[in-house]
Formats: sequence, structure tokens, C-alpha cells
Amino acid sequence: MNTDLLTVDSARTAVLEKQTTATALVDAFYQKIEAEDGAIGAYLTLCRERAYQQAAYVDALADKGDALPPLAGVPIAIKDVYTTKGVRTTAGSKILANFIAPYDATAVQRLEAAGAIVLGKTNCDEFAMGSSNENSGFHPVRNPHDHSRVPGGSSGGSAAVVAAGMAVASIGSDTGGSIRQPAAFCGVVGIKPTYGRVSRYGLIAFASSLDHVGPFGKTVKDVALMLQCMAGRDPLDSTSADVPVPDYHAHLGQPVTGVKIGVPKEYFGEGLDAEVRAAVDAAIQELAKAGCEIVPISLPHTPYAIPTYYVVATAEASSNLARYDGVRYGVRASDGKSLAEMYRRTRDAGLGTEVKRRIMLGTYALSAGYYDAYYLKAQRVRSLLARDFDNAFGAVDAIVTPTAPTAAFKLGEKTDDPLAMYLADIYTVTANLAGIPGMSVPCGKNKEGLPIGIQILGKSFDEPTVLRVAHVVEHAMAAAAN
Ligand code: GLN
Repeated sequence: MNTDLLTVDSARTAVLEKQTTATALVDAFYQKIEAEDGAIGAYLTLCRERAYQQAAYVDALADKGDALPPLAGVPIAIKDVYTTKGVRTTAGSKILANFIAPYDATAVQRLEAAGAIVLGKTNCDEFAMGSSNENSGFHPVRNPHDHSRVPGGSSGGSAAVVAAGMAVASIGSDTGGSIRQPAAFCGVVGIKPTYGRVSRYGLIAFASSLDHVGPFGKTVKDVALMLQCMAGRDPLDSTSADVPVPDYHAHLGQPVTGVKIGVPKEYFGEGLDAEVRAAVDAAIQELAKAGCEIVPISLPHTPYAIPTYYVVATAEASSNLARYDGVRYGVRASDGKSLAEMYRRTRDAGLGTEVKRRIMLGTYALSAGYYDAYYLKAQRVRSLLARDFDNAFGAVDAIVTPTAPTAAFKLGEKTDDPLAMYLADIYTVTANLAGIPGMSVPCGKNKEGLPIGIQILGKSFDEPTVLRVAHVVEHAMAAAAN
């Protein structure tokens, strides 16, 4: 069985029509993982028992001839920032290296309720802080298209497993771009829905006002089907929205004639690689050919997005990560002579350099003398960035930009320069600050054969338009390839 070619639909149909069984699918994926993940490093933990149990459940349904749920038999992977009951959950950090979660995240629970089979937990930057997966407390992930390059981050493992055929689909988390940027680097599709669209219950918090749950897949349809099963109000997350969930799949393939697409000039300036620009421009031409109206726009506060993001994100992180003290969760240093020393030693040994840098930055920004100058100011600029989008969406239905300024870079290329690394998310952090949906879909390759992604941004809760536009780009790319 060629696991590379399976989609959500084809996997489910194969089980439904008895061409295979869910158990045989799981066998095939674990074989593939054994053969290939040694070189890529995308999985941190496999949960075979849980996977085979779920497969047996799906096979029993199929045997009885019962209607199969929408993700029946679909093997998926979960970024290791989601809690999974009875399965090791590390958030990519040594401080949680031995942590077994006591409950399932809502997203995981809903995907399994829809029949999906969780194969394992994927590697990521520690506490989702990073753009390359090199901040994992365990080992980096390599890009399946070129093992000398990064898969992007922080959900690099979840993007890589889909690109490498080691899962049909997966979920990641996106605080500043961590679904969209790795999707672009690995040549897969990823969507960060509107803030509140999917419950964050059981997502290990990095920056709570910016954290989003979303899927990766090979196709736009696959992410639409995954999102469908996760979206909707959850009483366990008070920030989850009580907004009806549309039928995302039904919107795909609908005409885009007259849809107004904004192209913000600030996203096409200095620092944008020429080949990325050419691929994104070509995709915009395809949208025009399909009947979209292309409208030049301006999002004037864009230059302040990265500094604003790094003040807000580090401030929230410094508070969220205070709980890792060696008492409540995970690893404890045994050589402390007092309680305070035990805390210090645990955090010193358990947390990595980037996480420590952010805790210090965030603590500083929130400290009494600097709160107004940094945190409060950042919150004000955040409102201006959100207002830019509100104004733009008065005139357009969606906005397109490059997902990232370059294709995947080499391992080690930016590790000594945190500021250069932070710029990898220059086009993605704005959607998190504003809470609007954003998606990356492949729009070509550069001369070295590395994937390039186009980002599509939409109005709050208007995922249907975002998916519809992405679907047009996907079709144009498929037509060009044939
Ligand atoms: N790369 C960004 C950061 O390091 C975004 C991470 C994310 O979206 N989780 O914070």
C-alpha cells in the first residue's frame, strides 16, 4: 500500500468499501514510519496500542455495515503540545519528558470520535516556540524534501509526517505562524482557523490569546474535513465561540467569480525572495483567471507586527510557563537544598535556551516599571493591526500574501541569530494578533525543488471563503503540473 497517496477520503473509502481494513492501514503506516522516520525525526512517541484499538473499533463498524463516521480509519498524527490520555505528552520539552497526560485535548477527542486513528505524537519546537523545529528539547526534524533543511516550525513534525506519507493528516498549533509556515516549507496544506473556532482545551498553553488549533493535510478538502470535525463550541474552553459550524466541504469548488482578493503591498517588499514572489504572483494571476477581482490594498501597521507579537507572546508565555516548577508536572531536579533551589535547578535543566530567553523577555515586559512602555503599548498596536484588517475587509473578501519570505532554509542557518529566525514569521503573525483565519496552500517550487506556499487570510469565521480560494489555487497548480 502506498501511504504517500492516501487522502482522508481515499483512506476512509477504502475501509468503507472493504478494499482494506483500518488495521491494515495502521500496519502500513507504522511500517512506513519505521522505514523513514529515522532520517526525519518527526515522531516523538508512537501510541500503537491506542491506534490498534481504534482501528479494531472502526473495523467492527465496517463489518457490521454501520454508517462510518467522517474520518473513519484515517491515520493521523498529533503535535506533542496536545494532551493525550495515557500517552506521553512533552510539548517538545525535557521538563515534560516523562509526563503522561491524564485527559485528552478536545481536538483529539473530537477527531477520534469522528473515527480518526492517532498514530503518535509529533516533534515540535519546545512549547511551540520557534520557526524551524531546531528548538525541540529532543532533536530537530528534517524537511522530507531535503534532509539538510528545516521543515519549518513550530509544528514541523506535523507538517513533515503528512509530506512524507507517515500520516494522512495531522494537527498542529499556530501562535504566530506555526501551522502555515511549516505547511509552506513542506509543501502541504495547513489552516489556522479564527480564534475561538476550535477549542484550546488540552492544548499546552504558549500564549493563550494567540494560540490556535488547526489541521494539516495533503489537500484543501482534507483540511476542510479535519476542521469540520474539530470546530465548534466547547464548554471546557470559555474562549471557544458559540458560532454555528458551516459545511466547509460544501463550499469547495463553488465559483469565485467576483470574489475580491486584496494584495497588501507591505507583504511584497524587502526581504521577500524573488522566486517566492514569482510563484505567489503567478498564483494571483490564476485567481484572476478564475474570475476573482484583484485589488491592491495597504495594511499600514504591518511593520510593527513582529515586535508587537514578541512582546505579547513572551509576556503571556512567561505567565503560562510558571507552572513548570518540578512540583506539579514532569521532571524534578533532585539536588536542590531548598524549595527555591529545587525550582531553579528544575527549570534550568528542563527548559531550553529559547524558552528561557522568552520567559525573561516576557517577565521584563510585564514588570511594574515597564508594563506601560512595552506590554500596554503592544496591546494598543495590536488593536491597530486588527483595525487594518477590519478596514481592508470592508473592501475585499480575502487577502493573499506569501506564507513565508523564503523557502525552507538549512538546519543551523539561523540558530545563532534569534532576530533573523523571528523574521521567518513576518507574514503570519498578523493573523494571530487579529484572530482572523489564515491558510497556506502550495503554489509552486523553486529551482531547487523546494515548495513555496501562498497565504490566504479571511474575515473572522469566514473559513469557507478562505478554503474556496485555496481550492482554486490548488486546482490551478494541479492543472499546471499535468
Ligand atoms: N515562530 C513563532 C514563534 O517562535 C510562532 C510560533 C508558533 O506559531 N507557535 O513564536
